[in-house]
Amino acid sequence: MPGQSSRVPPRCKARAVVVSAPLGYGVGFGMSDPALETIPLSLPWLDERELKRLSESLRGRVAGDGPFGQRVEGRLAERLGVPHVLLTTSCTHALELALLALELTPEDEVLCPAFTFTSTANAVLRAGARLVLCDIEPVTLGLDPEQAEARASRRCRALVPVHYGGLACEMGPLLELAARRGLRVVEDAAQGFDASWRGRPLGTLGDAGALSFHETKNVTCGEGGALILRDPALHARAEIMREKGTNRKAFLRGEVDRYTWVSAGSSYVLADLLAALLDAQLDKAAEIQARRSAVATRYRQELSPWAARWGVRLPADPVERESNHHAFFLIFPEARARDQALAALRRRGVQAASHYEPLHSSPFGQTLPGAVGAFPVTERVARSLLRLPLHPLLTGAQVERVIEAVLELQA
Ligand SMILES: *Cc1c(COP(=O)(O)O)cnc(C)c1O
Repeated sequence: MPGQSSRVPPRCKARAVVVSAPLGYGVGFGMSDPALETIPLSLPWLDERELKRLSESLRGRVAGDGPFGQRVEGRLAERLGVPHVLLTTSCTHALELALLALELTPEDEVLCPAFTFTSTANAVLRAGARLVLCDIEPVTLGLDPEQAEARASRRCRALVPVHYGGLACEMGPLLELAARRGLRVVEDAAQGFDASWRGRPLGTLGDAGALSFHETKNVTCGEGGALILRDPALHARAEIMREKGTNRKAFLRGEVDRYTWVSAGSSYVLADLLAALLDAQLDKAAEIQARRSAVATRYRQELSPWAARWGVRLPADPVERESNHHAFFLIFPEARARDQALAALRRRGVQAASHYEPLHSSPFGQTLPGAVGAFPVTERVARSLLRLPLHPLLTGAQVERVIEAVLELQA
């Protein structure tokens, strides 16, 4: 609220909760009145630890698959319990690479939810296949297995389920459907780092999985992603396509004495500078998750009675799943209450947000034959979901302000 803050003399006061000084976004934090500052929806936690790795990287190789890239791929593979991980320029590219590795034809169909970010659907189109959208189920907000079964034609080759908010979708029935029909499963685990289903990390449940390290995700290097491929043949193809169609990865492992052009490809390799940032983020991943979990737990405890009273739904907490608290949201009984809540929270300096514009009703979605159909759950959720600020730099006082602002809403 710029009008108001200009009337309030700035107070040079240290913040009550001292988090290790964030870079960039933290500038000026201690100089304004914490009661008036806008509370951002998400913030990356970057500090001296990332700076230190970055300067180490600057002294050596900065291109992709350098010392940090190789180290981080190894760390991720170990953490996820898989033989290999490929670092990519983004999760969008990891999804694209996974679908390209499936070698689909223009007649092949791939199913993805209508309630997701555009990247999931773009990957299918970039791989030259037909996109078929599908509704979500209302508990996990992921691909609805019954709808998927109904929408999967004889030409269907793959499913791309999305784990919304870091909570596993209905993987049991989806994996069963895939096995029965011979479909590949490519998980969009962009939001799923360090979350699990039946004790298995998200991104390792299907044939392929893609993680995001975008600024808004739990662990970040600005822009980046990772591709997990459990099938060795798929992995071999993706590894080559990722490196401009060359077998440079095999060369780096010492398997060939020079590298050469072996297939069509492009460049999906993460620069070592960014891998260095990720290396530092992996060191603090447990702290990041603990802070996110503390905020989400507080929201749940303090908002539950209010939510029950107004018929507002909080994120589900179903069995067999461990969430990474990527998102905390409220689902209002109807659109008008959500829109009013968004406006009221923003007036109080709380950066709340909606999610997602349904793909089938977006301008481009409307031009796609596979987007024709009824998607009632997607439409209802998209109209009534509101995300609250959730990131590791939220102070106790900021969480309190968010909770107070929500409790004042009359849903
Ligand atoms: C963030 C996100 C992506 C894209 O990730 P990038 O790393 O930014 O390319 C894809 N799918 C979902 C569900 C996401 O949340």
